[in-house]
Amino acid sequence: MLSLPLAPAAPTQPPRVSHAQAFGLLPAELAALGVPAPEATFQKLHRPWTWQGGAPALSRAARSVLEARGLELPAIASRQASSDGSTKLLLSFGGDRVEAVHMPRAVAGGRVTVCISSQVGCAMGCTFCATASMGFQRHLSAGEIVAQVLGVVSELGPRHPSDLTLVFMGMGEPLHNLSEVRRAVELLCEPRGLGLSPRRITISTSGLVPEIRALGGCSPRPLLALSLNATTDEVRRELMPIGKRFPIGELRAALQEYPLRARERITVEYVLLAGVNDSVEDAARLSDFCAAFPHNVNLIPFNEHALAPYRAPLEPDVSAFARALLARRPTLVTVRRSRGRDVQAACGQLVQS
Ligand code: SF4
Repeated sequence: MLSLPLAPAAPTQPPRVSHAQAFGLLPAELAALGVPAPEATFQKLHRPWTWQGGAPALSRAARSVLEARGLELPAIASRQASSDGSTKLLLSFGGDRVEAVHMPRAVAGGRVTVCISSQVGCAMGCTFCATASMGFQRHLSAGEIVAQVLGVVSELGPRHPSDLTLVFMGMGEPLHNLSEVRRAVELLCEPRGLGLSPRRITISTSGLVPEIRALGGCSPRPLLALSLNATTDEVRRELMPIGKRFPIGELRAALQEYPLRARERITVEYVLLAGVNDSVEDAARLSDFCAAFPHNVNLIPFNEHALAPYRAPLEPDVSAFARALLARRPTLVTVRRSRGRDVQAACGQLVQS
């Protein structure tokens, strides 16, 4: 009998694990994987000030279980320091790159705001935003979002979570990736780990109404910011395609119904584009929009970049807009002096390079 040669066996591929998956697991889930001392291991993973040499100081047994699960911190592909003290970090998970910005506050005490990404690229297509030019590539997993925070904090501080504020204002629309973002917030607020207060985390959205309502029911629930940027549906549709799905009236209704804790406010962000949305009539309409709910307004003079055709407003026009807003009715207004402008890390300038 002829014996036929066997077809060569297909090489066995290790199962594809998502990057940084190990940072997306709670102690009970670590225990279910057979990780020894799951609570202590969780603490070691999520408290970057206890790390040694830029990595969690895990027991050998815990490490060997978790390495199969993606115990991977993002590699820092590049780092650019701005003259204002902020640092833009280009982080790599496998081949996918996202940006985070580390911004020490000007006040004493070592407080830091870290701006993080929730997606690689973004699907929202806002016409003033550099990230939009990348298109949508993929969602980040909860583990990747958490690893991004821990990696940045381990590199650049702060040394204590009470000095840390997080803003989901980097690449991506966080509410387009709500399930992973919600999970990341749960992990970041977990007292056995980083233990951040949800009031130190802000999620900024371009205005996905059903997801805003869903976020209102989350626990722990972070602070909400809305990137509004226009006061008429016509202009908003032009600047932000999401405005075609959710007109301004629907957005206002969702914010009016949004559950808020004592003294909590919704931040309304407004990127000022010269000659597009910065008239005194816009200021009056912005005031009227915000009057329906507790709020503060954050005016952001546009940061010019090569990927958008808009111009930055002149300083006197920014002041005139703020004055017109306050003349309509008293409110809290801040003008954001963007950090990292000289290294393209300011608001709306984040793009993979
Ligand atoms: S502004 Fe935000 S939501 Fe709009 S395209 Fe840029 S990253 Fe996406």
